[in-house]
This record gives sequence, structure tokens and C-alpha cells, in this order.
Amino acid sequence: MEKVVILGTGPAGLTAAIYLARANMNPVVIEGAEPGGQLSLTTEVENFPGFIDGVMGPELIDNMRKQAEKFGAVFKNGWVTDVDVSKRPFTLEVSGIGQLQTQALIISTGASAKMLNIPGEKENVGRGVSTCATCDGFFFRGKKVVIVGGGDSAMEEANFLSKFASEVEIVHRRDELRASKIMQDRAKENEKITWNLNKTPVEVVSEDNKVKGLVVKDNQTGKEELVETDGLFIAIGHNPNTEFLKGKLKTDDVGYIDVVPGTTETNVLGVFACGDVQDNKYRQAITAAGTGCMAALDVERYLEGNAAQDWSISLGGRADK
Ligand code: NAP
Repeated sequence: MEKVVILGTGPAGLTAAIYLARANMNPVVIEGAEPGGQLSLTTEVENFPGFIDGVMGPELIDNMRKQAEKFGAVFKNGWVTDVDVSKRPFTLEVSGIGQLQTQALIISTGASAKMLNIPGEKENVGRGVSTCATCDGFFFRGKKVVIVGGGDSAMEEANFLSKFASEVEIVHRRDELRASKIMQDRAKENEKITWNLNKTPVEVVSEDNKVKGLVVKDNQTGKEELVETDGLFIAIGHNPNTEFLKGKLKTDDVGYIDVVPGTTETNVLGVFACGDVQDNKYRQAITAAGTGCMAALDVERYLEGNAAQDWSISLGGRADK
């Protein structure tokens, strides 16, 4: 049986792994379906403290992982398909690994890109539709691309894509952007970026198995038009990765895990949550790392407090706080 298993390898899970490995807790880290999480799909991170000239997201993640390994964290390749947190020890079904049992569990499975859910979108993923500019931008060298979204992600991806594409058109459903001022300004100063505001995406059109354009509806006139493009990048936010926990832990309506305010404790004693999977407000690499640290400290205290317990005893839910 493991002392503690960490699910996910974004900044939250990796920070928890660093702290727990340094505390000789021998954490086992399950990498998840998208190792490294969103940071591994991003480009330059300019606001993570300690990097005066910024740092590339994948490099930051790689360094955190090496730091955790240096202190003895064990990484396992796979993802959890089912959990039983109704009795101790907790049981996890992990693809490619089998069953694991653990005294404490940290859930840091992050969040995944939202889709528009319009006709033509899903079937054209990989044929011109993408949710990851870093992964797929290179394929659009010298071509036109469209980005949907008005938040920081859309601005960041537009700037990144402008290094490859001949033109980057931002389609947003309102005439006001949600992005922070600094990110908006940077996109507005970029000559390759054009704007198509107050438009709702209606359908992705393809020809010969390749994206040809995006049909958008003008929110004022109701008129539809085809915006021709070679590539369509969706940057409209994320959903928490908690499908496998449905009905087992308390979440909000969207699926973000509920934690006791100021802690990483979930409604099940011994199960902790950190990072974007429990945060629909801040969603930053540094806040994820911060809550990862909190989860590690919460686990340490929890395991110390339960050191003398017989782990085969079923304790049910957490006592109310
Ligand atoms: P976000 O802030 O939630 O923005 C999502 C955008 O997509 C909004 O403009 C929204 O429109 C639009 N949208 C949502 N659903 C849509 C739909 N079905 N159809 C059309 N448009 C839709 O998400 P985000 O940009 O991914 O940012 C998430 C968090 O990460 C934020 O806290 C952000 O600050 C942070 N972030 C920071 C950086 C950075 O600092 N370098 C980079 C990326 C992200 P409305 O505006 O109309 O709602």
C-alpha cells in the first residue's frame, strides 16, 4: 500500500510531489492523460516568479518533475479510470498499471479545453481544428488561422500563432474582450492580428477532409457569413477533469471539487485537491503550485495524525468542520 498517491503532473501535482518527497513520504505520481497539464501546451510563461526573462512552459514543468524525482518521487505512466474513496485504504484503478491502494490521495488532475460543440468541429480535430496553438501552430506556417475566444488564452495563442501564420483573425462573441489589459494591448499592437467581434461561431466547414472556414453569426444583424481559414483554434476556457470522480466527491455544478476554504481538504477525510481541478477563479500556474504545496502539508499532517490507525478500518466521510 502507498502512503500517498498524487493524480496529475501539472504545477499543482508536481509541487505536492516535491514537498512530499522531501518529507520522505515516498509519493507515487500518476502522470495522467496529458502529462504536464496545460503548462506543457503553453509557450512562454512571463509571470511565474523567479524567471526575469520568462520561462517556456514545458521547461518549467520538466524542471519541477526532475526536482521531484531528485527527492525520490516515483512517476507512473497511466491515468485513473475509477476510484473508491468510500473506505480505507482508498483504491484506484489505473490504466496500464492495475489496482493501487493508498492511505492518502491528492487529486490534481487539472482542467481540459472546452469545445464549441458546433457542427463540423469534432470531426475536424486534427484536420485544421485545434485547441493547442503550441502543438499545432507550426502546421500553419504562411497560412491564415482563426482563433475563437476573448480571454487571455486567445490573446496568448494569437500572438504565438502570428509567428507562423500569415494572418490571425480573432473571433469573439462580444465586442468587449475578457482578457487582461496587458494581453489585449499586446494582441492589438500585433499587425498580423485582425478582429471579428460580436460574432457567434455556428459551423465549421471543411472540404477534402480539411477545414475551409468557420460560419459565424453577427449578433446584431443575425446575418451569417463564412470566414475562410486554414486552421481553427478554440481558446474558450476549460472544464475540470473530474469525470472519474462523479458522485464520489463533492463538486460544484460544473465539476470543480469543493474544498474546505483555506485548505485542500475535500469532503472525504484523507482526499485532498489542488490546482485547477478545484479552482475556477485564479487558474494560474503559481496558484496551482501554491495549492500543491498546501496539499502536501495537509497530507503530512493527516498522515501524522493517523499514524497509529489501522488502515483497513472503514471510516466513511470526513467529520464536519
Ligand atoms: P476565460 O478567461 O474563461 O475566457 C474564455 C473566453 O472564451 C471568453 O472570452 C468567453 O467569452 C469565450 N467563450 C466561452 N465559451 C464560449 C463559447 N461557447 N462560444 C464562444 N466563445 C466562448 O478562459 P481563458 O482565456 O482560457 O483563461 C482562463 C484563465 O487563465 C484566466 O484566469 C486567465 O487570466 C488565465 N490565463 C492567463 C494567461 C497569462 O497570464 N499568461 C494566459 C492564459 C490564461 P465571454 O468573454 O463572452 O464570456
